[in-house]
Amino acid sequence: MIYNVAGLMSGELGESRQHEIENERLAFGESSFTEISGPVRMIRTDRTVLVTVDIEAVTHDTCSRCLEPATVNVSVALEEEFTPKNADLMDGLNGHSQDGDDCFDPALLIDEQNFLDLSEVLGQALTGAIRIAPLCMDACLGICPVCAVNRNEIQCSCAESPIDPRWKVLAGLTERGAEFSS
Ligand SMILES: [Zn+2]
Ligand SMILES: [Zn+2]
Repeated sequence: MIYNVAGLMSGELGESRQHEIENERLAFGESSFTEISGPVRMIRTDRTVLVTVDIEAVTHDTCSRCLEPATVNVSVALEEEFTPKNADLMDGLNGHSQDGDDCFDPALLIDEQNFLDLSEVLGQALTGAIRIAPLCMDACLGICPVCAVNRNEIQCSCAESPIDPRWKVLAGLTERGAEFSS
């Protein structure tokens, strides 16, 4: 997901390029994404390249209900401005770059060879789009709190007795304990 934008930056203001991400993969932090697909649009502004991305991807996680592996779909739409380190190709940038690169997010810089790398920005966005409690499927029944079976696979009859029988035994013990101490 690296694009050479030299031609775009030396072109006319408002010039644009359309790219397509097709079935790419990306490892980012502890997550890895596959089947990344979607359109990428780049527009040359006076000092930056405006990038609009609308992508879908797949990641693998653990279902928060049944704890089985879950295939999770994530989608991200974002718009970011990338600033070139190399000011030569664009007018009016020289004054801008005197501030140094410090004021820019390094993930949003176009390098000296005019390569624009989307992977950091996409990785951040995709990671942020993963649900806090991923599910293997929306209708996941989870693990039975009483007998611990995966209720997607086995239908247990615990639902009829909401109190765990083990708690009943414990309740009996504390009652007896109270009798002894009095
Ligand atoms: Zn599940
Ligand atoms: Zn059960």
